[in-house]
Amino acid sequence: MSEAWAEQRERMVATQIVNRGVRDPAVLAAMRAIPRHAFVPETDRALTYSDGPLAIGRGQTISQPYIVALMTELARVGATSRVLEVGTGCGYQTAVLAACAGAVWSVELEDELSERAARTLAELGYRNVHLRVGDGSRGWPEAAPFDAIVVTAAPADVPPALVDQLAPNGRLVIPIGVTSQELCLIIRTPGGTRRETIIPVRFVPLR
Ligand code: SAH
Repeated sequence: MSEAWAEQRERMVATQIVNRGVRDPAVLAAMRAIPRHAFVPETDRALTYSDGPLAIGRGQTISQPYIVALMTELARVGATSRVLEVGTGCGYQTAVLAACAGAVWSVELEDELSERAARTLAELGYRNVHLRVGDGSRGWPEAAPFDAIVVTAAPADVPPALVDQLAPNGRLVIPIGVTSQELCLIIRTPGGTRRETIIPVRFVPLR
């Protein structure tokens, strides 16, 4: 069974991720290794490695594999990076970040989702992940500054607290917008911030 999953993951990485231009070797290795199916509710497991988002309960979704890969690559996470994630959800993006980074702090609004993510991440042996229930738009001030912040739910505008908690040259990867959304990369520069628009996306709203 686990070999069949591994084969599906290989195919997912080749056809959905490498084919679309993601190149960061650490991201590709993480996505080949991490058992995404362990984060997906039993009823939808067969669809785990398909090319789209899936429901994870509480009206929320686990992002499409390509989007997880793209956001992690844009965050330019290295082995010593400190990373904040807003919107833990099922914890899959958390795991991908934790595999590439030094440590990850992740905030989730729904305690049921956070608890389930905590169990899955513990079962898989992640020790560099810190989870908290609360409003992630306030960031995690005690653990700031962060080299990268990845937001997996879309606000109408960039929450100022997140920009404040970026380290110099830190990178904020965030979907922005209500009816239509763009994935944005905001980089902290000596003079302020620089903003790039990456691609149109569709995320659940940041609440
Ligand atoms: N990275 C997740 C994506 C989950 S969808 C995954 O791969 O599973 C986005 C998540 O953001 C949802 O779980 C939702 O409950 C959460 N969320 C929405 N608003 C939030 C807020 N203000 N603070 C923290 N989490 C929030």
